[in-house]
Amino acid sequence: MNDSNRQAARFLPFTRPTIDEETIAAVGEVLRSGWLASGPKVAQLEAELSAYCGGRPVRSQTSATAGMEMALLACGIGPGDEVITPAMSFVATANVIMRVGARPVFVDVGLDSRNIDLEQTEAAITSRTRAIMPVHFAGLPVDMERLYAIAQKHKLRVIEDAAHAIGSMWRGRRIGSFGDLVCFSFHPNKNITTIEGGAISGGSPEEVKAIELHRWHGQLKSGVDGFDTLLAGGKCNLSDVAAAVGLGQLRHLEEFNVKRRQLVARYFELWGGEAPLRLPERGDAGHSWHVFTPLLPLPELKLTRAEFISGMRERGIGVGVHYPAIHLFTAYRALGYREGQFPHAERIGRETVTLPLFPAMELGDVERVVAAATDILRGARK
Ligand SMILES: *Cc1c(COP(=O)(O)O)cnc(C)c1O
Repeated sequence: MNDSNRQAARFLPFTRPTIDEETIAAVGEVLRSGWLASGPKVAQLEAELSAYCGGRPVRSQTSATAGMEMALLACGIGPGDEVITPAMSFVATANVIMRVGARPVFVDVGLDSRNIDLEQTEAAITSRTRAIMPVHFAGLPVDMERLYAIAQKHKLRVIEDAAHAIGSMWRGRRIGSFGDLVCFSFHPNKNITTIEGGAISGGSPEEVKAIELHRWHGQLKSGVDGFDTLLAGGKCNLSDVAAAVGLGQLRHLEEFNVKRRQLVARYFELWGGEAPLRLPERGDAGHSWHVFTPLLPLPELKLTRAEFISGMRERGIGVGVHYPAIHLFTAYRALGYREGQFPHAERIGRETVTLPLFPAMELGDVERVVAAATDILRGARK
């Protein structure tokens, strides 16, 4: 086999976590320790995340989805309330609003930024609006000054879906180190992982207390044998096994994100101004590049997205879809949402493709993806 055959033979997924041997050994130690559920490793992970977030309180959960739901509950949001959120995100962002009994009020996003349109956000505020739930899409921070100016003016809480944004910075300040309630995800596809897991940075002392109660049975212990349950809480605490993975990952966060930025820089360099697809907004050094999601110019192609994805797969390259527009899902159509309401979210939902991007990739892998995609797309022009 020559080198290029060998390279073609190796399947390149669109994402893959990088776990070092030290982390694997640390998991072994936890498994042998006799304490597997929330214990010293969870406490250490929360302390390290808090230090990372400038000393703010950080509480971990079993997922960002659980965290965002608890954040809404902690803000007292429920039936009769409205929460403004983008129509383009992973569906969890809107599902949690529904789950607490509130109404998701969608607004459109920027075509290239994928981030919530703040002009439409302000226009969507009513007397029932209680919070704004923006997403730092792909790790590109939302305009934090404008967002918080709107929130303050209308006395709204902000629950940031920062599932893509650990390591992102807004004008030199880390996402999570300021703002109201900032929810990170540590799913294996995210920039760092705890297998499944998430964490909330920030919140008032009352909100942090409420998050702790919702996370663990609503229960308070006192003394050696005292228990009280203050509310019907859930069960969303992280395990020490998961936290040991997270501690090992956090050590590599900067290095991982530097690598992500280098790989994306190579995509932009190779495609330059004449890319056969529409590249996302580039942002600045504060972009943590969770995913690289260009748009296929479908109206100019005699090829569907499914055919593009299959063609890439035949060439040994995995392609994802992040995401279909939320308001067009059955559960959201049931609220009255329809086609035509959010043209950017709908176009992104139809045309987006997620090309490989993860820290263990090499620059040569980017070259391979660019060559394969360019080949397929040039051959498919109408
Ligand atoms: C992954 C993701 C979530 C959910 O994170 P989990 O930890 O899997 O619950 C929420 N919002 C966005 C934008 C995501 O990408």
